[in-house]
Amino acid sequence: MSLGLFNLTGQRALVTGSSQGIGLALARGLKEAGASVVLNGRDEAKLTAAAEQVGEGCAMLPFDVTDHQAAREAIDAFEADSGAIDILVNNAGMQFRGPLEEFPADAFERLLRTNISSVFNVGQAVARHMIGRGKGKIVNIASVQTALARPSIAPYTATKGAVGNLTKGMATDWAKYGLQCNAIAPGYFDTPLNAALVADPDFTTWLEKRTPAGRWGNVEELVGACIFLASDASSFVNGHILYVDGGITVSL
Ligand code: NDP
Repeated sequence: MSLGLFNLTGQRALVTGSSQGIGLALARGLKEAGASVVLNGRDEAKLTAAAEQVGEGCAMLPFDVTDHQAAREAIDAFEADSGAIDILVNNAGMQFRGPLEEFPADAFERLLRTNISSVFNVGQAVARHMIGRGKGKIVNIASVQTALARPSIAPYTATKGAVGNLTKGMATDWAKYGLQCNAIAPGYFDTPLNAALVADPDFTTWLEKRTPAGRWGNVEELVGACIFLASDASSFVNGHILYVDGGITVSL
């Protein structure tokens, strides 16, 4: 076993939702491992600032991941003009909290489009090219909510459960074309998505007691899992959901 298995030199990685938070950390990490990185989000100003953090040679591909046609067109044009996307990290996502009995239908629909339709939209658009080349790595960002329910977050939990199952379906359907599709299920990380929870001391107290690691995760702690699943180091891993959660999912 050689450390070279983790080397991503010569690979190009598209990370959706990489203008901030987990996506930006993963983009930085993939670049450090040798990949050229393509950033995605909807806000070009945020993407430009993120590209400065990732560093030289970083490309931007702004589009809305909820729009199937826009994703297809952006990816087809990028592949034609700039070359192959070898690694796709489906990271873009959002969260709404609230009691299920009062949850607005439009918010439920928006969660579905952003958290699960996006994985289909971008996954299919990129996989069509990967299939033509007979290789490719897809890493979907799931959640501990893929396995566990928490109060007041049922619609998000539903979308992340679906991300886990779509990952297994992608792995099953596309292995014969040389693709590998896996997921990372993060625990609780301090990002803009969790701003309200981070600001709530009662939540942090609960989290510190409930998580065996006794703390919030740092986004950099997701990078190793992503490099592993994006690289030759995981050549026989397919349809797996890798929990990076300080142990919360396995402890009562
Ligand atoms: P953030 O809210 O910090 O970042 C979300 C990113 O997604 C932004 O770059 C945002 O950019 C982008 N995005 C949102 N909607 C769209 C869209 N329709 N099209 C394109 N880009 C979009 O979230 P996190 O970094 O915390 O989360 C990233 C992923 O990790 C999500 O899937 C989330 O569910 C998952 N996750 C997060 C956890 C955590 O503890 N933070 C735990 C478990 C899972 P812009 O708005 O500019 O378009």
